[in-house]
Amino acid sequence: MAKGLRWGRTWTVLAVLAALTLPLCVGCSQKNTKMETSIFAMDTVMDLTFYGVDPEAALKGVQEELVAGLYSLEEKLSTTKETSELYALNEQGQASLSPETAELLTQALELCALTHGALDITAYPAVRAWGFTTGSYRVPDQAELEQLAAGIDYTQLEVDEQEGTARIPQGMAVDLGAVTKGYAGDRLAQQLEQVNITSALLDLGQSTIRVVGSKPDGSPWRIAVQDPAGEGYLGVIELTDLAVGTSGGYQRFFEQDGETYWHILDPDTAAPARSGLTSVTVVGPSGLVCDGLSTALFVMGLEEGAQFWRSHPELEVELLFVTEDRTLYITPGMEEMFSLGQGYEDREVQVLQ
Ligand code: ADP
Ligand code: MG
Repeated sequence: MAKGLRWGRTWTVLAVLAALTLPLCVGCSQKNTKMETSIFAMDTVMDLTFYGVDPEAALKGVQEELVAGLYSLEEKLSTTKETSELYALNEQGQASLSPETAELLTQALELCALTHGALDITAYPAVRAWGFTTGSYRVPDQAELEQLAAGIDYTQLEVDEQEGTARIPQGMAVDLGAVTKGYAGDRLAQQLEQVNITSALLDLGQSTIRVVGSKPDGSPWRIAVQDPAGEGYLGVIELTDLAVGTSGGYQRFFEQDGETYWHILDPDTAAPARSGLTSVTVVGPSGLVCDGLSTALFVMGLEEGAQFWRSHPELEVELLFVTEDRTLYITPGMEEMFSLGQGYEDREVQVLQ
């Protein structure tokens, strides 16, 4: 073969390669800017982190919109702010609802029904009676608890999503504390996706997390799971584009006469749920479902909770239960994402089938 021809072909190959790689190189020269902010909303510290290639001013605008979105949800859903929609519903027995609140209430009610009332958003009078809303803790006596339990019944709450209205009988009250942070994570993720941001870690506090895409380097996000009985981390869940919700007795509690009372109540007794679990972690595509289910499964306990998971594959959730004897029970999908943390390597892990 003539030398000139060989060189000609080599140049052609190089030119084609250069043409192919050029757009990629333009992409990789765009620097990812990290945007990070911490705010206090919904009674929790929330940390929002995302990465984008747009100019910093544009990313700052996105960040401001996320924060504004959270505050606006809090304005509507707070049980203590006198101007909120839920406050009006609880005080007057009826209220007009914004589309967001109507949507959230409707979805929360569906989850109450699905869990046969283990999640019950009308538990609020009981939550209040124990002092979990104010921090003025007290232990109601048996007669009071019975009365409170009789007043917990989500089927009495009527929501008309089309009309944007809700009604509740006198004396009953609604609290979306078990689902709001998960729902907020879903909303923020949608906001980010609309502006083509594909890498975010939204920590809504109390172990309610939503991740968008993967880390900027393409690897999955790593979310630590707290040891419900100690200071350390039981392990790490690696995930992409999913939500995480954890509920545990260690998150909000008080002690009296050697007994610990926590903020997750069993709607049947109006008292802290004692099902033999110390925490439940739920991973899935919907933050609202993960948040609400973690509360409901904590109430149900291991056996009923595992049965619920078997009966509801459509929810696409994976679970991690921690029992009082410190054993971990995980679903097979969770096993693929989860690894034990340092110092916890010999913890017993049972895989649920
Ligand atoms: P956190 O808000 O700490 O993340 P959860 O998501 O488990 O924890 O929600 C607990 C909150 O939900 C409580 O603070 C209370 O307001 C409310 N709540 C407690 N028990 C129930 C229940 N069985 N069903 C619905 N809401 C509940
Ligand atoms: Mg919850």
